[in-house]
Order: sequence, then C-alpha cells, then structure tokens
Amino acid sequence: MLGAPFPARPLAVQPTSVPPSSPPRDHTLDACFLGPYGENDTLLEKLLVEFLRDHVYWRRNFHPEDPPAIGTAAAQHPDYLAFEARMRRELHQLSAALKRSVPFHSPRYIGHMASDLLLPGLAAQMLALPYNPNNVSEDSAPVTVEMEVQVGLQLARMLGYPHDPAQPACAFGHLTSGGTLANYQALRLALALKAFPLALRAARVPEIELPPDDWSAFNLAGADAITLLEAWQRWLAAQAPSARVRWLRAVEAERIEQRGLAGFFAAHPSLRVPRVFAPITAHYSWSKGVKLLGLGRDQLELVPTRGMRLDLDAFEARLAQCAREREPVLIAVAVLGSTEYGTIDPVDGVLAARERSRASGLDFAVHVDAAWGGYLATLFREEDGTLRPHEAVAAEFKYFPSTALHAAFGALGGTDSVTVDPHKLGYLPFGSGAFVCRDHRAMALLAERADYVFHGDAAPDYMTRYRGLGQYIPEGSKSGAAVAGVYVTHKVLPLDHRHFGRLPRATVRAAEAFYERALRFAGEQAGRLNVRVPFEPDSNLVCLALNPHGNRSPARANAFMRRLHATLRVDPHQPLQVKEFFGSVTTLRPDLLGGEETCRILASLGLDPGEADEPLLILRHTLMNPYLIDHENGISYIERYFDFLGRCTAALMTEERAA
Ligand SMILES: *Cc1c(COP(=O)(O)O)cnc(C)c1O
Repeated sequence: MLGAPFPARPLAVQPTSVPPSSPPRDHTLDACFLGPYGENDTLLEKLLVEFLRDHVYWRRNFHPEDPPAIGTAAAQHPDYLAFEARMRRELHQLSAALKRSVPFHSPRYIGHMASDLLLPGLAAQMLALPYNPNNVSEDSAPVTVEMEVQVGLQLARMLGYPHDPAQPACAFGHLTSGGTLANYQALRLALALKAFPLALRAARVPEIELPPDDWSAFNLAGADAITLLEAWQRWLAAQAPSARVRWLRAVEAERIEQRGLAGFFAAHPSLRVPRVFAPITAHYSWSKGVKLLGLGRDQLELVPTRGMRLDLDAFEARLAQCAREREPVLIAVAVLGSTEYGTIDPVDGVLAARERSRASGLDFAVHVDAAWGGYLATLFREEDGTLRPHEAVAAEFKYFPSTALHAAFGALGGTDSVTVDPHKLGYLPFGSGAFVCRDHRAMALLAERADYVFHGDAAPDYMTRYRGLGQYIPEGSKSGAAVAGVYVTHKVLPLDHRHFGRLPRATVRAAEAFYERALRFAGEQAGRLNVRVPFEPDSNLVCLALNPHGNRSPARANAFMRRLHATLRVDPHQPLQVKEFFGSVTTLRPDLLGGEETCRILASLGLDPGEADEPLLILRHTLMNPYLIDHENGISYIERYFDFLGRCTAALMTEERAA
C-alpha cells in the first residue's frame, strides 16, 4: 500500500478545467443541497432554528396552564451541570469520531451509491424528529401515516401505475428500511396471491367459480387471482354472521400463511415449491429474501445475463422447461440499475416472456428491483404523468437512453411491483426504501387481521384501510420522520422530468462526460497502461478496466488493481485529507458477461484469458454527485480524477518496476 499521497498538481491548471463541451449548469439545483463546501449552511440553519422554535411553541401551547415541570433553577444544580458536562463530552467525542466518516457530499467521492442529501428531505426529517411519529399506525402518527400512503401514490405515478385511490385498482406503496425489505415484501405478496386460490379450493367454498385443479389455481394471472379474492370477499359479506365467521375460519385455515410452506405443500402434493428467477446481477437481498421466507436458497435461480443484462433467450428457455415439467414459478425479477454495474434489464421483454408463458399455463408475478435506478424514471415522465417519447428524452443527452432503455422504463406500468430506494438516487438519508404494488387489493392478503369481514359490504376506503399500516408491512414501529422527509422532497420536486428529473439529468450527463473522458484517457495512456470501458454504461455507473501495458497475467493485473484500490478506498487509519478521490471496485465475472465477451475484454486489455483463474477487478464509479462540474470556478472533478488516475497508476508502475 502507498504511504504518501501522490505529488499534487497546482490548482486549476489546464487539464482539470471544465472542457467547453461540458453540459450547462442547472441553477435550480443550487438550493437543493447543503453543498460540498456547506455553501447553503445559513439556509439550513435558518430552517432548523425556525422549526425547532416552532416545535417548542407547540409543546408550550398544548396546555399552557401547565407550569414548567423542570424548575427554572434546575440548570444551576450541580447534578444538572454534571450531566450536561458528560453529555457534551460524549457529543464532542461523537462529533470528532464522525469526522472520519465517508465524505459522500464531495465531488471527489465517486465510490458507492451515496451522495449529498436533499435539503427539503433533510430539513423535513430533522423538523419531524422531535415529534417522533411512529408510522406503525395512525394512533401514533396521525400525520405521517397519511404522508406515507401519499408517497406510495407519488411513486406509483412516477412508475406508470394507476394512482387514483378513488379507483378500485389503484396502486399502493409504503416505505421500508431499504431495498432489501422492499424486495422481501415483493416475495411475500407474490406468494400470498399465488397460494390464495388454493385455499379457496381446499376449503370448498361454494358458489364461486374456482380453477379446476391445483396447477391452474397456482398459475392464475395476478389480476384473475385478485378478481377471485374480491368475489370471495363479496360472497362472504353476503353470508349471515355465523356462517361468515365459519367460512372465514375455514379458508384462513387453508392459507399458506397459516399452514406454513411444509403444511401447505403437504396438503397439495401435486405441486412443487415454486422457483424465483432473478438475473445473476441481482442484489444479494434476493438470496436473503428466499431464505427469510423459508423457500430456501435452492429455489432462487439466477438467470444468465448478456452484457450484464438479463438474457431473455435463456430466461424463456427456462420458462418453457418449467411449463413442460410443471415446475411452478413464483416471481421473476428484472433489475433496473444493477448494484455493481448500473445496467438495466429488458423489463418489456420479461413481460412479453410472461405473456407467452401464460399461454402455456405457467404464470408468475413480475417484480422490478429498481432500488438503484427507480428515480431515473422521472426522466421519462411528463408533468401530466404521461410517458415522454424516446426522442424527447434523448434530445437532452448524448447517448442516453438507448431505445431498449426507453422500452424498459415504458414497461414499468405493466409489472406487478417495484422496489425503489429513496436513500439512493432519491438523495435522502438512509433508512428509506419503498415497495410499490400495482393493484392494492392484493395487500388484503398480507393483513394480519382479515379486516374486510368486520366491515362487511362497506369495505373501508383506501385511506382508512392503510392508516393501519402496521398490519401490512414487514416492520412494526418505524420512523415517521423519515417518511416526512420523502414526502416533502416529492412535493418540492415532483417526480417528473421538469422537477426531480433535473437531478438525474445532471448526473447522467456527468456520467456521459466521464465516459467520454475515460475513452480519451485510454488513448492518452496507450503504450503505458491499457484502459477499457468494459461495457457501455446504461445509467450513471461507469466501470473502467486497467492493465499495465505489457502485462499478460490477469493475476498481476488484479494485484495492480488492489494497490490502486487501496488509494481509492476509505482507510480508517489515515486522515481523510490524504485521499484525493474515493472510488470502488467490482469484478468482471465471466458468468455475468458470457465467456466470449470476457475473453474479448481480457484480450483487448492485453491479458491472457487462459490464465484467468479469478475474475478481473475493475474500477466502479458511481456518478451521482451534482457538483462534478463546477462552472463557477472552472473545475471539472472528472478531469481532475483522470489526472489523478494518470499520476497514481504511473507511480504504482514505477514502484512495481523498482520492486
Ligand atoms: C441497494 C440495492 C438493494 C438493497 O437495498 P438496501 O436499501 O441496501 O437494503 C437491492 N437491490 C438493488 C438493485 C440495489 O441496488
């Protein structure tokens, strides 16, 4: 590992300044963040002081006749002072320790999926914290539970789902601690809906038209299963009270949630435990999810990819085989922005594959894991909620979006559910992911209490139902303050291309500038360092493969990359300032890329593919910082980064030669 920082360049010399071809500055983004320098400190301070005072007035005005419970002289007591001193001491230590945090806010941070925080969300969350709302139910969060349901509708609109709660088939969404739990909720909902028609059959519910056998009941289209659920609810409501309770108990006793996987499949011996399909690029939360649900890791099948995007031919071949062998499929996952590469699966193709599979009697839910790329959908959304044509979006960029990408975003409305992380491209504090399903009526199957039976015909309206949020979500108590942050952000920056879309627009443009700079860098380094962009970026993640010229050994290339990564990663034993830039690495896995493509890339780097016994390490850059190009001072952090990379790799190669 390298001890000292690399020799610094003088400030703002030619190669690090903003090239004339740079994207123009968007001034509306200036008030969005605290800023790399804390430029908007007085704005945030004013807001915080204003709303802290406001909170105190609220306390005082609750029952102004109640005298202060803490005496006015209390602050002079030695015990009080001792406590304050201890608190200060610990807070000082915390504050000092936090100085070793990762500088996500800085344009020198292009590592993982984090950046500066949007001021409206940060201020709203800080404002709401002392009220401490608990979004488990409206009893403990009369204001923020409703906001959470609204956030679900805001996201539904961005995705192209029905979002009018007055319509029966409206979408529903809620927040989670993150994408991991949202993905888990997708599995839970898909299983509940798939298994429910079998419970109706097993309980021998009369007068409702049920599928003729277990296989067809387990392969109902989601919409048909919801129709069946509604027919059952209506039928039940029409029964006399005693019969109603009896029938409800009979059906509940047959449900998978009651019997568990073991009991349920024992009761339906002709059925096998269903598979879960996800591309190899899928996040490891899917592995966690199948384990948590008790399906087991064996049921998760990772579909091959081509160029890091789900291979539709391989997927369809597996579906055909499942249909032939009567192996049920629970859900197919498409990834909208893979965690490692930012690549986007053909969501439209996955839906088309399901349509064809449906004809052969095999049906399943389609979920989109858009934890990373979800907010990119704002680029494709008009203010009136319609989809923007490809040409309109493409006119704002050099390369983005390919027609395939436009088709993937345009198809989102046809899927069953989506995961989006406000704490990623939503620029909000950690602790907020979101799950959104297209038709809220399926959610009744996740309720801890079958509420419809108590209300009979007059089923509660949408808002009333979801005020008891805790019934439907995997979590219990949860932060209403985090919800307030997301809600206010979406109000200040509505989720369309004219508002929120300004942010991803700026960063995708920066990613394009980064991509072009990387190609130029490859030319500049020719004969010294072999540099390749291993595959075309889909969004704002750009990877870079490096190999010292003349080296043919993949193992040596990886050793070189590990030393380079040491200069780019957070090191708790060194002061932050030693680091010029932060980046991350990932691997170029042949199972993701395909053997042929991997060989082609290795060969283009001058590496001997025959000798690769470990996947090649590559640099991974997340370009989500809105201040990568500083027009005011004429600095491009993209130029500076490549300047740094040139110096750093040269120094490493000199060291290697000396060793
Ligand atoms: C980040 C991510 C997740 C997991 O989300 P957390 O918020 O970290 O729980 C899941 N899927 C994808 C594609 C992701 O990028």
